[in-house]
Amino acid sequence: MKEGVFPMAFTDEIFGINVFNDAVMRQRLPRETYKALKATIDNGSLLDPQVASVVANAMKDWALEKGATHYTHWFQPLNSVTAEKHDAFISPLPGGRVISEFSGKELVRGEADASSLPSGGLRSTFEARGYTAWDPTSYAFIKDHILCIPTAYCSYGGEALDKKTPLLRSMEALNIQAVRILRLFGRNDATRVTPTVGPEQEYFLVDQDLFDLRSDLIFTGRTLFGAKPPKGQELGDHFFGTIPTRVQAFMSELNEELWKLGILAKTEHNETAPAQHEMAPIYAIVNVACDHNQLTMDIMKKVARKHHLVCLLHEKPFAGVNGSGKHNNWSMFTNTGYNLLEPGDSPHESAQFLLFLTSVIKAVDDYQDLLRASVASSGNDHRLGGCEAPPAIISIFLGDELTEILESLEAGKDYSGREKTDMAIGVHVLPKIPKDTTDRNRTSPFAFTGNKFEFRSLGSAASISDANVVLNTIVAESLRVFADELEKAPDFRQALHDLIVRTIREHKRILFNGNNYADEWVQEAARRGLVRLESTVDALPSYTAEKNIALFERHGVLSAAELRSRRDIGLDSYAKIINIEAETMLLMVRRQIIPAVIRYAGDLSGSILKIQEAGCPAGSAGALLHSLSARLEDLIRAAETLEQALKGKLNDAEPVFAAAYMHDRILPAMREVRRIADELEQLTDKTCWPFPTYDQLLFSV
Ligand code: ADP
Ligand code: MG
Repeated sequence: MKEGVFPMAFTDEIFGINVFNDAVMRQRLPRETYKALKATIDNGSLLDPQVASVVANAMKDWALEKGATHYTHWFQPLNSVTAEKHDAFISPLPGGRVISEFSGKELVRGEADASSLPSGGLRSTFEARGYTAWDPTSYAFIKDHILCIPTAYCSYGGEALDKKTPLLRSMEALNIQAVRILRLFGRNDATRVTPTVGPEQEYFLVDQDLFDLRSDLIFTGRTLFGAKPPKGQELGDHFFGTIPTRVQAFMSELNEELWKLGILAKTEHNETAPAQHEMAPIYAIVNVACDHNQLTMDIMKKVARKHHLVCLLHEKPFAGVNGSGKHNNWSMFTNTGYNLLEPGDSPHESAQFLLFLTSVIKAVDDYQDLLRASVASSGNDHRLGGCEAPPAIISIFLGDELTEILESLEAGKDYSGREKTDMAIGVHVLPKIPKDTTDRNRTSPFAFTGNKFEFRSLGSAASISDANVVLNTIVAESLRVFADELEKAPDFRQALHDLIVRTIREHKRILFNGNNYADEWVQEAARRGLVRLESTVDALPSYTAEKNIALFERHGVLSAAELRSRRDIGLDSYAKIINIEAETMLLMVRRQIIPAVIRYAGDLSGSILKIQEAGCPAGSAGALLHSLSARLEDLIRAAETLEQALKGKLNDAEPVFAAAYMHDRILPAMREVRRIADELEQLTDKTCWPFPTYDQLLFSV
C-alpha cells in the first residue's frame, strides 16, 4: 500500500509503541533483511529462512527491551475468539544458566496440541496436532508482556482450522482477478489489489456489581429475563448524546490501549439503545483490520473491568432495545493508492468504476445465501429481522442518483432521460458520477456509501473474517467472469458496454433503495425471488451448496471438507449456546424466580389476613394474590415443558438436525417461560425480585 493512503496522523508518543511495525523494522533490521521482509509483506514473496532468523532475533531483542518475557503464536480458531499459548524466551545453558532465545524457526512455525479447539471433523483427537504459521503482513505486538505473533492455524494435512487462513487466501483470489481487470484498462502501474475494511464496533456497558448478580449475563452474555422498563430508546436521546463520565473514562483508556497497539481507534459515540456505544477505527487492509478487531474486543472487555464495568459484546443483550452489530465498510485499493470503488472524474475512470461496481452487484445477487450464512449465529438471529438491524434478506442500496445512472445505461438513454445515439461507456457520453451520495439509508444490509460498500449485518461478537472471506471471494468470482469475457473481446469498449448493461439487467433485482423494515419489502423481495434465510439453521447449510463449494474451490479459498467443517462448527455451537441458555433459564426460574414469587405471595397473604382482621375486604390485594399464584402455576408448567423438550435434544444427530431441534422446540419453550416470568416481575415487589432489572441495568452507568 502506498504511503499516505492510510491517514497516520498520530504524532502522539504512544501510537504503536507496542508494535513491531515498519518504523521499528527499518530501524532495527539490516538493510537487506528489511528489504526482503518488505517484499514478503507487500508482494507476498516467499520468505528466506535466514531472513526469518535475523527478524526473529531483532524482534526478541525489541520485545525484551519492552519487558516481554514470553512469546506466543496468536491465532484465531474457529470459535471466533483468539488463542494463545505462551512460551518463555529461555533456553538452558550448561551450568544451570539460561539465555534468552528465539529462532527464525520459532517465529515462522509453531506446533500446538490443540485437541480442544473445534475442527469440525477435520482433525481427529488422536491426530490433534495443529500448526501455526506466521502472517508477516500483520505486525507482531506486545500485549501483557507477551510478544504476540499473528499466525494462521492449520491441521497436519494443511486444512485451515482458523479464520485467518481463508481470509488470506480470499485476498489473494481477489488480487488475481482485480489485477486482470486493471490490465484491460491499461493500468499497468498497479501490481496488487488489496481489500480494505473499517469495522464499526457496537457494545453495551453495564455495572459490574449488577452483572455479577445475573446468571444469564454471566453464562450467556445476554439477559434471558427482563420486563421492559417505562423508558427505552423511544426518545432517541441516547444516540450521539453526552457521554457519561464513567463511560468517557473507559473510552479514553480504551483508546490509549488500542493506540499503543497501533490500532487506529478514531470515532466514539453513544448508540441508539441506552447503555449502548460504538467505536470505529480508521480502515486497514482486511486481515489487519480483522486482527485489530479481535484485539479490540479483547481489550474492551479488559479495560471495562478496570472501571468496574462489564462490556457486553452479545448481539442482543436486552430485549426491546436495539442489539449490537458491526458495520463492515469494504473497498479495494491498488498498491498505487487508488480506491477502485471511488467514482472517477474522467469517463475512462468512470467506466472502470462502473465495472467494479457492477461486479459487486452481481456478486451479492449471485451469492446472497453465502453473505447471509457468513453472519449467521444464534446471537445475531435475534437481531436480523427485528426492525433495528438489516433484515435477513440481502439487498443493495445504491442511492437514487447512482440507481438512475444505472437505469439510464440499461435503457440506452442518457442521464436526463433522452434517447442516446452513442452510449459507449468510456467515451464522453458517460454521466458524471456523484462523489458523495448524500442520501443515506440505515435499513439496508448492504449500502454503497460514496466510495465503499457497508455490509451491516455482521454480529457484534463475531470475527469479521467470515463475512470478508465471502465478500472477497464472490467479488473475485464476478471479476473472473468479467475478465474471461473482456479478454477475449475483439472490441473492448463495446464489450465493456454490453457487459455492464447486461449485468445491470440481470442483477437489478438485488437493488432496493426503500425501507427494508417494511412488511411490503418482504413481499416484494419474495416476488423478486430473493433468498430469505430466517435463522442460522436455514443459513449455514448454504456453505455446502454445490454452487458455493465450486466457487470456493475454484478460487482456492476453502475446500469442500473445510466448508463442511465450518458449517458444522457453526451449527454445533448454535445448538450448544441455546442449550446453555435453556439450562440457565431453568436454573434462574427454579432457584431464584419461583422462590422469590412464593416469598412475596406469602408476605402478601399475611398482609391480606391482617387487612381482613381489621374488618376490611381483601379486594385488589386478593386479586393480586390470585394473579400471582395463577402465573406461578403457568411458570412452573412452562419450565417443565422446557425441561422435557431439553431431554429430547438430539445429541448424536447430524449438526443440522440437532440445531433445528433447538430452533424449533427449545426456543419457543424458552420464549414462553420468559413471557410468564416477565409478567411476574411486573407484579412482584421490587425488593423481592431476585436479580437486577432492566431499569437498573440500562440506566445506572
Ligand atoms: P458512518 O457509516 O457511521 O457514517 P464513516 O463514514 O465515518 O461512518 O466510516 C465508517 C468506517 O468506514 C470507518 O471505519 C472508515 O475508516 C471506513 N472507511 C472509509 N473509507 C473506506 C474505504 N475506502 N475502505 C474501507 N473502509 C473505509
Ligand atoms: Mg456506518
